[in-house]
Amino acid sequence: MSNASARQPVELLGGLKQPDNVLESLDEAILRKKSGVPAWNFFDRRIKTHNEAIGLPVGKVLPHPLAHQAMNDRIVSSALEKQRMIYIHIPFCSTICTFCAFFRQAVGSFDVSHYVDSLISQINRLGSRHSCPEENIGAVYFGGGTPSLLHQDQIEAILNAVRSNFSLSRDCEITLESRLNGITSEYLQGLRRAGVNRISFGVQTLNTEMRRTLGRIAERNHILSVLHESEHAGFESITVDLIYNLPGQTAKTWEEDLNDLASTPVTGASVYSLIPFKHSVLGKNLAEGKEPPLGGIQNEYEFYSTSDRFFTNLDGWKRFSPVHYGKVGFERNLYNTMRSAPIDILGFGAGGGGRVQGLLYMNPVNVSRFVEDQAQQGDQHLFAVDMDPLYPKAMSCFELTDSLSMHESAIPDFLPSVSTTLSKFQEMDAARCQDGVWELSEAGCFWGYNVSAAIAQAIRQDMNTISSQEVNYE
Ligand code: SF4
Repeated sequence: MSNASARQPVELLGGLKQPDNVLESLDEAILRKKSGVPAWNFFDRRIKTHNEAIGLPVGKVLPHPLAHQAMNDRIVSSALEKQRMIYIHIPFCSTICTFCAFFRQAVGSFDVSHYVDSLISQINRLGSRHSCPEENIGAVYFGGGTPSLLHQDQIEAILNAVRSNFSLSRDCEITLESRLNGITSEYLQGLRRAGVNRISFGVQTLNTEMRRTLGRIAERNHILSVLHESEHAGFESITVDLIYNLPGQTAKTWEEDLNDLASTPVTGASVYSLIPFKHSVLGKNLAEGKEPPLGGIQNEYEFYSTSDRFFTNLDGWKRFSPVHYGKVGFERNLYNTMRSAPIDILGFGAGGGGRVQGLLYMNPVNVSRFVEDQAQQGDQHLFAVDMDPLYPKAMSCFELTDSLSMHESAIPDFLPSVSTTLSKFQEMDAARCQDGVWELSEAGCFWGYNVSAAIAQAIRQDMNTISSQEVNYE
């Protein structure tokens, strides 16, 4: 649906260029803080996506034939003891949301069952080359697009292929992103029978009028009823995506959304600020004055603070990351919180990406090309970056922004700039370090992707000044 971590907004593809002036902006932010500027005004620009914040890893982009070969080699040589996760991309949507810049195709433009066959073929082909330790897959994530466009039997067939090639842990988190329109209790029960135990709905807002602005069809009452049906179907976790700073949204409508959701069985919520991508329909409508103008950064901070206070005060809930909250004992959010861990993520399907043994890769975003590649038993059009051998260790520094806290021992010795950078966030009260544990404050969470971007830039800076061979890397 709208904001899952493994997807690449189309406008960021082809570069995934990380902003290069984030570190430079820190001294100015400290000055602003010291002169009494409020937290919402620390930086001139708020970075809003994980991909833009982190950019590509330090490493070499491999041309197609080498990428394909490297992928085959790494899959075979992958270490037995490591935990892994799986990402499966379903790039189709029945209607296109007006704010969307993700990789997806309108359903009807392609034979979906043909795509499912190709997807299963990729799972079988790579799975057969992959050593398969017991129960080492901790999470499987169906993202899109709209995975719930698939019939429950197709989801089951895909999961059967996963199970016959990989060994899922007994408590494996299996998430599926779902639309709301047209979802029935039979469908939800079918997903549960297939093994899906966590469902994520792209609610964005319950306000029917605002949903229409976004190109969303389902009405408030239907949404509430689907959330209750999901509980009856037996999902362990029911999570929703919400967006603030929508055209026409007010503090009152935002509070109504939050209160309404609190009366449902929802156990998790991801909360994002609208990104008005300029090539999206909504971006164009805003530029042409066809929608009320969006509020500025202060407005965003007020929406953010309202929902942050709301969810952290909700009985049994806690903040899992700067953008995600959940009910302890129900929500785990494993797929997103573990992405900074040094583990492999196997990504399947057109536009699906992952990393295996230091190779970051993405399958072709073009569905026809992906299907052709699978028909030829290969991944000839893979995009891949061979990471510098030190980079997987550097990734542990993103734990702070992926899961809110990080022991300082997670910062490798060869990255002194990361510690300096975090000290600067400490000076502006965006981060704190107590007994060797770094944590983000509320302001740090609001600027969470700026923190990630600064860490990423510090990593680049340090890694450009050292030679990998000089460091004893394990
Ligand atoms: S069109 Fe809508 S449902 Fe489809 S990927 Fe974009 S935001 Fe998600």
